[in-house]
Amino acid sequence: MLRGQKVAFRASKRDLERLWACNRESARVWNECLRLAKDYFLQYGRRISKSELQKQTKGRFHLHSQSIQAVCHKYLFARQSAQAAIQKGLHHARYPYKQKKLFNTKWAKDGFKVYENGTIALSMGIHDGTREEPILVHVSHLPKGTIKEIECCYNHSWYLAITYDDGREAKAYQPGRSVGVDLGEIHTIGAFCENGQALLITGRKVRSLHRLRNKKLADIQRRQSKCQKGSRRWKKYERAKRYLLSKSERQLRDALHKTTKQFVDWCLAQSVSDVYMGNVEGIQRNTKKKVHRKQAQKLSNWSFGKVKQYLAYKLAQQGIRLKEIDESYTSQTCPVCQKRRKSSTRIFACSCGYQEHRDIHGARNILSKALYQEMVPWDMPTMLTYLRIA
Ligand SMILES: [Zn+2]
Repeated sequence: MLRGQKVAFRASKRDLERLWACNRESARVWNECLRLAKDYFLQYGRRISKSELQKQTKGRFHLHSQSIQAVCHKYLFARQSAQAAIQKGLHHARYPYKQKKLFNTKWAKDGFKVYENGTIALSMGIHDGTREEPILVHVSHLPKGTIKEIECCYNHSWYLAITYDDGREAKAYQPGRSVGVDLGEIHTIGAFCENGQALLITGRKVRSLHRLRNKKLADIQRRQSKCQKGSRRWKKYERAKRYLLSKSERQLRDALHKTTKQFVDWCLAQSVSDVYMGNVEGIQRNTKKKVHRKQAQKLSNWSFGKVKQYLAYKLAQQGIRLKEIDESYTSQTCPVCQKRRKSSTRIFACSCGYQEHRDIHGARNILSKALYQEMVPWDMPTMLTYLRIA
């Protein structure tokens, strides 16, 4: 199965400068894609094709030919997603239009060579008949498997986003039970299986890690603000900040790995074959009001995205299908009388007498919406398993 991993690397000063140049050049390719697509549309009244876009960009940039193609593919992918979103009626969706100054450069199969000592040679291709000397980067550990693609990224610091095949076969799909999943802050995962089994995995660990990180970060920033920018002490705090961020991200990631593993194990115990998840894009729920909004949102977006990513891989490995469904009103609708209300407490209680733990209520409504296209009551008693992570 294909997997992704971020890896830090070292490179000479000169090669780092060349990587900056690559990402600037990739941005030029992106901007050129925008221009070509626009001109093509104005001239012919239809959208530029993949082959046309590749023909028009080929050999015109100071990059490996596959690196240029990779930008074209990203442009086409962005255009396709925008089209799908527009067709769905999402009003904020737009076709790609933003000019870029930097764009991650990608090296595909023929564009790089990996040596056993951790050195990776990134090819710059042939220009004016001569093969340019490759950029050398050194990593301390490589993911186990066959490396398929390497993307060079900068976000506070340099790293490689490596796509690789871990050599493991995914299990085949076998029809079984269905489960609805609700992601949240209080409980990272709330789930309900059609056999009446429910699961709550507390998000306490994730929340406390996040809180601690923010507290320490604020502390460093307060001290740093008293120093002259660029001074030795300022730089010391800058290093401390980077260290804190990478350490806390590791801890958070570890906690989310454990959480998603617990969920997948539970699914296997229930003979689950299909998991339905609400489409959480841009939605923020179950957040304590006291938490500063901006911070809360940061945690949600980051951790929801990660949970989704980990679930997608871990479930696929077990032959379990993961589907996203439109979750609107699933948390607010009473399945018995269809009345809508917003719950401010942990329990969703309706005037008709129905009541349920809010996160199980949400997961069960997502499941019934997926199976029956409407929210219906379940005539089976709910058995709850409650899990926390160490
Ligand atoms: Zn009701």
